[in-house]
Amino acid sequence: MRPHNPATWKPMSAKLIDGKLISAAVRKQVTEETSAFTAETGVTPHLAAVLVGDDPASQVYVRNKERACRKCGLKSTLYRLSDKTTQQQLMDLVAELNADESVHGILVQLPLPDHLDSTPVLDSIRPDKDVDGFHPENVGLMLQGRPRFLPCTPHGVMKMLAHENIDTTGKHAVVIGRSDIVGKPMAGLLVQKGSDATVTICHSRTTDIAAVIRQADIVVAAVGIPEFVTGDMIKPDAVVIDVGINRVNDRLVGDVEFSAAAEKASAITPVPGGVGPMTIAMLLGNTLKAAKQSV
Ligand code: NAP
Repeated sequence: MRPHNPATWKPMSAKLIDGKLISAAVRKQVTEETSAFTAETGVTPHLAAVLVGDDPASQVYVRNKERACRKCGLKSTLYRLSDKTTQQQLMDLVAELNADESVHGILVQLPLPDHLDSTPVLDSIRPDKDVDGFHPENVGLMLQGRPRFLPCTPHGVMKMLAHENIDTTGKHAVVIGRSDIVGKPMAGLLVQKGSDATVTICHSRTTDIAAVIRQADIVVAAVGIPEFVTGDMIKPDAVVIDVGINRVNDRLVGDVEFSAAAEKASAITPVPGGVGPMTIAMLLGNTLKAAKQSV
């Protein structure tokens, strides 16, 4: 990681894509629509969040999601389970929430403790309550271009690009990371008709990744390695979206070497204050959508 050195510091030239600002606009819209929906139907959209164990980062994420729900007029209930919870107990809770008609959205905070397998848990969430958009049925619908719930982080990125009037048509988008929750769905959204990017997905087995990233008009970094994407990998005027959230000495750092990349890029997201707030805003939108679809 490059230490900040005032002697070599140069002002950034990239436009800062402000996730706090854009997410506030999304939350305002969710608040207004929720208020109208509740007035009309008497139904308050309700998110059930399940947190297993005491991972500090997960606790912060869930707390932020709960707080955001309440601020927008949505109900949220947190189910806290101990790190001794068995697979069956977790599956039983999901079954209970699936059957509870007062619950519209179910979220199981990842990662789960090592002894638990997230795949059967996520597969068991009712697809019409799967507000994270991780269920295979929802992933399939998204890939076919007829989404029910879009996965929150990639959807948040698309929203940011649209807000900034960044046209993805014909652009070469390089997505770094192929996880089921960020990289793959991100690539899936960018390649959809209407977005029309030409997409390359990189991962840990990609050969000469720097050369691939240098070809990108749009870089989306979702690697989980602090400052993995260095300034010299950025093509002049590229758009840089940093999904990474890494804790380094009590500081949050993205997957992009921010100051060096900002000197080359035309637009860039910061960490924190970039993609993170968008993820939460899109979750609220999905919960409202689930409630609307339930009446
Ligand atoms: P993940 O499941 O660990 O996936 C990381 C991906 O990066 C994998 O596909 C992996 O490749 C690839 N990778 C790892 N080392 C690499 C290397 N040296 N070169 C190239 N590719 C490499 O992580 P994730 O869940 O997608 O999350 C990625 C980052 O985004 C994390 O920092 C996470 O905290 C953050 N995140 C942020 C938000 C938000 O709201 N902003 C939401 C979710 C996640 P292989 O598949 O080959 O192993």
